[in-house]
Amino acid sequence: MKKVVFLDRDGTLIIDKIYLNDPEDIVYLPGVFEGMQSLRDQGFEFIVVTNQSGIPRGLVQEENLLQIHKNMSKEFAKHGIEILQYYYAPHLVESNHPLRKPNPGMIEAGCEEFSIDRNQSWMVGDRMTDVEAGHRAGMKSIFLHGSEDPNVSKYDPPEGMADTFLEVVDLIVSWQDK
Ligand SMILES: [Mg+2]
Repeated sequence: MKKVVFLDRDGTLIIDKIYLNDPEDIVYLPGVFEGMQSLRDQGFEFIVVTNQSGIPRGLVQEENLLQIHKNMSKEFAKHGIEILQYYYAPHLVESNHPLRKPNPGMIEAGCEEFSIDRNQSWMVGDRMTDVEAGHRAGMKSIFLHGSEDPNVSKYDPPEGMADTFLEVVDLIVSWQDK
């Protein structure tokens, strides 16, 4: 069974440009490549799960979204990192669609497509809706340097809070050693 780190995209792996639609405008956040290499070396694999309400709003074209993910995969491959799959939820905020975080549908889809050990897997993101989606899928979650205050969230707190992607790695690795 795979142990997987489910990763939010915008604000976690790349700068959140708010409705990113240009496949040439991807800017990676500090420590992402190094951190993912460390996790890879610890036996983790990666799946990206991203809410994309910009699609139904007409602000993001689906072909561009797919090209963005292709470009990301190319860049990750240069660093020896493979992304198993990208799932995106092209649904409006108010839809409460099962795929849209905080619902766990994208993570569940990953668990259906791949054989995944939920006990050893994580969800990492910069919003409490990411944290909650991980919890609803039966995983532990890490909140990464978000603009929200997790302490005033209606959702249960994350198992770990990190200011940088490299701190995420430390949290996951130290949890494993427990
Ligand atoms: Mg995000």
